[in-house]
Amino acid sequence: MVLAVLATLATLQNVTWEPARPIQGSLIVVAAPSGVFGQLAGEPLHFVDGRAFAAVPLGATDSVELQVLTGNEEVVENNVMWVPVTPRQAAGEKVQAAERFTPPPDSALLVRINRERGLSLEVARRAHELPRLWKAPFQRPRATRVTSPFGAGREVNGVWRSTHSGLDISGRKGDPVRASNRGVVALVGNFFYGGITVYLLHGVGLMTVYHHLSRALVSAGDTVERGQLIGRVGATGRVTGPHLHWGAQFGAISFDPADLLTLP
Ligand SMILES: [Zn+2]
Repeated sequence: MVLAVLATLATLQNVTWEPARPIQGSLIVVAAPSGVFGQLAGEPLHFVDGRAFAAVPLGATDSVELQVLTGNEEVVENNVMWVPVTPRQAAGEKVQAAERFTPPPDSALLVRINRERGLSLEVARRAHELPRLWKAPFQRPRATRVTSPFGAGREVNGVWRSTHSGLDISGRKGDPVRASNRGVVALVGNFFYGGITVYLLHGVGLMTVYHHLSRALVSAGDTVERGQLIGRVGATGRVTGPHLHWGAQFGAISFDPADLLTLP
């Protein structure tokens, strides 16, 4: 028994993550010896060659819980570790949105918004069911200017709203939007907030999302290659003008899509 406990401790010491103090709303890489399972902030980790992606929620406070299962078939130890979180420094911004987005939604609209939120969560869960589908590095869906970074606080028509959950990239209506990496299209739809949207699963928990399109050029079930044209920039959903809102998620947790561009 003493030996078993020592073995567990030795294993735990070999569980590390990079960066050591990740910022709110960021992607991290957890490294662990083989045979270790776990979850971070409630999302399962998928270890491939001893490494797994995970994400720190934007709303995380001082630390997030990393659960690590170690042991063997007879003895499974559920160990809890804490990943310290660094606050994200983000500037606020003011947005003027069309009037119909400002008043509290009526009940019919609430039903629609909740249904769409449910669809998005369901898709996010499916991100965990696929193996890693890409080999080449992630790339931006458009090469143009970033007009609003991830995590910016937003004041919409004078009312403070939640922070920005993606990265806005400039574009005119009809400009190309390209897949940031190889993946499978999980869902295409026209949503109240996101407008015409493509949800793209890359496997091992990762998903990228493309909002406010004028047209989607792919359908659910399609496998798309990195850089493939998947849609056209538009101004559908809650927007002030045409642009691409590019989102990235690990399961249901949104993180800064820019983190995908600097993966080791
Ligand atoms: Zn946006």
